[in-house]
Order: sequence, then C-alpha cells, then structure tokens
Amino acid sequence: MFPVVVAAALLNVALSSETARVVETEARSVLERMLVVAVATLRVSDGPAGDLQRVARAIGAAGVRATFIAPDGRVLADSDVSDDSLARMENHAGRPEIVEAWASGTGTAVRYSTTIGAPLMYVARRIGDRDAGLVLRLAMPMHRIEAENSARRRLLAFVTAAALLLAAVGVWIAAALLTRRVRRLSEAAAMVAAGRGDVSLDDRHNDEFTTLSRALSDLARSNRAALDRLALEGNRLRTILDAMREGMMAVGPDGRITLVNRAMLDLVGYRGDAVGLTPAEVSRQPELLDAVQAAIRGQAVTCEVQATHPRRAMLLLNAAAIPDGHGAVVVVHDTTDVHRLHQVRRDFVANVSHELRNPLATIQAAAETLASLGDHDVEDRAALISAISRQTERMGAIVRDLLDLARVESGQYPIHLEDADPGPVLDAAIAAIRPLADARGIALHCEPTDASVRCRFDPEALATVIGNLLDNAVKYTRPGDRVHVRVRPVERSVEIEVADTGPGIEEVHLPRLFERFYRVDTGRSRDLGGTGLGLSIVKHLVQAMGGTVRVRSTVAQGTTFTVCLPRPDA
Ligand code: ADP
Repeated sequence: MFPVVVAAALLNVALSSETARVVETEARSVLERMLVVAVATLRVSDGPAGDLQRVARAIGAAGVRATFIAPDGRVLADSDVSDDSLARMENHAGRPEIVEAWASGTGTAVRYSTTIGAPLMYVARRIGDRDAGLVLRLAMPMHRIEAENSARRRLLAFVTAAALLLAAVGVWIAAALLTRRVRRLSEAAAMVAAGRGDVSLDDRHNDEFTTLSRALSDLARSNRAALDRLALEGNRLRTILDAMREGMMAVGPDGRITLVNRAMLDLVGYRGDAVGLTPAEVSRQPELLDAVQAAIRGQAVTCEVQATHPRRAMLLLNAAAIPDGHGAVVVVHDTTDVHRLHQVRRDFVANVSHELRNPLATIQAAAETLASLGDHDVEDRAALISAISRQTERMGAIVRDLLDLARVESGQYPIHLEDADPGPVLDAAIAAIRPLADARGIALHCEPTDASVRCRFDPEALATVIGNLLDNAVKYTRPGDRVHVRVRPVERSVEIEVADTGPGIEEVHLPRLFERFYRVDTGRSRDLGGTGLGLSIVKHLVQAMGGTVRVRSTVAQGTTFTVCLPRPDA
C-alpha cells in the first residue's frame, strides 16, 4: 500500500504542475481569443481613436483589463484607469509583451503590475501598421488563474484520495480473500502433515492457488495411502514378530528399544511397553546387555547363556548390527527344551545300557562257568542254565517294554477305541494275576461292576494298563495285604481304581513315578523282575485313549492308582 500512496503523491504533484500549466495556457488562449474578437470588432466598427477609452471599458466589462498603447509607448486608453490618470501612466514601450507585439504582431508576459498591485498575465496584439497602428493589450489577474488552478488541484487531490481509498478497499478485500485461501491451504498442509487423507480443498477459482490446492489434495491422498500401507506393513510385521517363538529386540543407535516382540518380553520377564526404554531397564541378563552393546559397535555376537530370571533357561543369543549405524538387532532362542531332550536321550541310553549290562554280565559269567564245568556237575549246570534263562527273560522283558513304549510314544501303537463296559477286561486281568497273588498270599478283590457303566477304551491297551497296575500291586505288597479293584462313574468319566494296602510310596517319589526307568527301590524292583518301564507304558497308553492316570499313596497304608477314562457321551 505504501508504494501505491507514494506513487499517487508523485502523480498528484506531476498532475498539479501540469494542471497549472494547462490552466495558464487556457487563460492565455482565452485572452488571445478575446483579443482577436476585440481587434476584429474594432476593425469592423473602425471607430475613432477618441472612443478608445470607451472601448477599453467595454472590453474591461468582460472581466479583463484592456489597454491601448500608441507606437511611442503612451497609454491611450485603459479600462482600469480613469481618464484623468491616463496621462500620468508610465510609458509602456519597453513592456516585453508590447515590444513582442510590435515585432511579431502578438506578445505575452506574466508580470507584477504596479498599476493594479497584483501579478497579471498580459496578451498584446498589434492593430494596424507598425508605425501608424496601436497595440491592444488584455490582462487578467493571476489570482484568478491561481484560483482556477487551486480549484482544479483540489479536485485532483480529491479524486486521487478517492481513488486511493477505493484502491485501499480493493486491496483490503483482495488481501482478505487471499489470506483466507492461504489460511485454508496452510490448515490443509497441517492436516497432510498430520497424516490425514481426507483433505479436499474446494477451490472454484482457477489460478496458481487452485493448482496448489489440487497438488495438496493429491499429496494428502497419496500420503494417506502410503501411511495406510505402512500401517498394514507394521501390523504384519508385529503379527509375525509376536507369532515368533524366538525373542526379538531391535535398538536404535542411542541404545533405546525400537521394536520388541512378546516372546522376548516373556524371556526377560518384563511386563508392559518396552519401546523407548534401554535393554538394561527390561532385562537383568548381563550377557544380553553386553551382546546388544557389542552389536551397536558393529560386532556380531553369538553365545549361549544360562538364564536364571524369570526362570532357569538355556538361551542362545544372536546379536548383529543394523547396517549404516542404525542400531542393532538381537534374537534369542530358548534352547532349554533342546537341552532337556538331549539330556533325556543321554539318560535313556545310559539307563538302557545299565539295564542290559547286568543280565548280560550274569549270562556271560554263567556261560563261562558252564563251559568250565565237568560232566558230573549236573546240579550246578542246571542252576547256571536256569540263571541264564532268567536273565534272558529279563532282557527280553526290557526289550519288549522298550518296544511297546517306543510304539506308544511315536503313536504307532494301534489304538481302537470302543464304548463298552470295562468289566470283562478287568475280570480277565484279575484272572491272569490271581495265581501270582495266591502264591504270594495276597487277597485280590474286585467289586462287581455295573454293566451299564460304559467308557471309551481300547481293550488290549486297557488290559495292558490294568495288568501292569495289578502286577505292581501284587509285586510290591506283603503277604496278607489286600488288592482292590473298583469301577466308579464320575461326572463325564469312569474311574478304575487299583488300590492296595502295601507299604506305600514316599511322597518325594510320586511326581517322578511315571518316568522311564524310575524306581523307588531299584534292587527290589530288579529282584522282582521289574523293568522300571511299566508305569511309563501305563501313562502313555491311558493318554492315547484320551484318559488320565494319577497316584495317591501313604507310607505304610497303601497305594491307589486311578485310571480315568472318558464316558461315551463325554
Ligand atoms: P517296575 O518295573 O520297576 O515295577 P514301574 O514303572 O512299574 O517299574 O514302577 C516304578 C516303581 O514304582 C517301581 O519300581 C516301584 O518302586 C514303585 N511302585 C509301583 N507300584 C507300586 C505299588 N503298588 N506299591 C509300591 N510301589 C510301587
């Protein structure tokens, strides 16, 4: 606006001086025209020179001063001077306009008039010859021209001011409209920056702003689409990370966590949002913290550590730097199960070797002794052959049980489930064990079963399970003890109990009783022909039938094994 005001002021000054010039020119032109008319009128009337004073007065009535000057400079008549004063008037021969009029016919000048006492504009014209004519001069006071000038200047100033005001209002309206559009654009830009995709600028104009609005709307849409894609990728990544069994953690160059999955938080025992924290704030595992630090420095680390918090576990750490100094990633595998499986396998091989070594050693020793016996040592020979036979049977039992266990564990044991009354299977098992029970003086009792109580089982597997439990009950009890078999429907299953009044099992052994080769009293078990695999086979067969088995025992009072099988409608 300031430049406009300055330009208007300069224009006003220029126009003012131009106006003054135009007004003067116009005034001069008016005087000249009046002069021409007056001269023409004089020529037409061709009046006497004595009437000059009357003519001057007549012309002066039009508002101008008229003066007639003789060739010698004398003033012959003057509209503004009385007749008496004419003779006293100064000689006008030297006046510039007069000199110019005599010389060229017309002369003009602007000068202060001592006669009138004000600046005047003079226009003179020669009438007649150079020697015999006279000069008529018209004069107009400059204050009239000035008045005209200032009136025009005022008008000009007013017009300029009005134009300026209009321009100011126009500029203000244009600026307001522009500001509103710019504000909408900046609001839209802020929305784009905030990731909003529904930014649409309804701009009905067709200028640079419209182009910018459209570009901004397009940018918002593509921005939103990119953000949606990113969010989708992020969700995918998070789902994958959370589905991973391995723990994963990424840290930035500042050592703060940028990404971590659920498995990692479980492994380090941290609850809550760990993003933004340092690894030291979520884990107490020094090896993990060292690995992260080393990886940030660009060093790849692989190590196996024994964790104690939140639980004892073997962890395999792999840490590596993210290229270009963007931090590090650490992946943690929980290898506890792998270690336990290796241990179980080692234990199993050791157990099997141990179980087979004794009978093998006995057979070898018996065979060697047998070879050294003479023909007459018939009794010793028979005893040795019997020992070899017993040990061979024992080895056969171990191998048989091992094979059964392997088949059940690998799911190769053919299980054919049927819904039936378990009574006949129990009766058969009891009948099979009764001779041994009788021989050992143990009372074997089976409560009569209700044929309507049915459950889901494989007859052969159930026979093996109950046979093993009865065998143990008869083996580990003392003469005079009792063994009881009961069948009881409970809620959605049927429980088969094999209870004895034997010596019982100490509580410390109960949790491990179903493990392979676990024995409470190894020597006694071996003496009784046990392999240490019976209860393990029982557990796996019951599970294969969809049931469970549990043990309850009190030292000196007896042991009860309970097999729980689902009912047909369960
Ligand atoms: P084993 O071939 O040695 O009998 P099992 O797996 O059948 O192997 O049994 C594991 C151990 O559990 C046995 O060695 C024995 O010490 C103990 N046991 C099993 N049943 C009984 C029972 N009814 N009374 C006391 N101890 C038992």
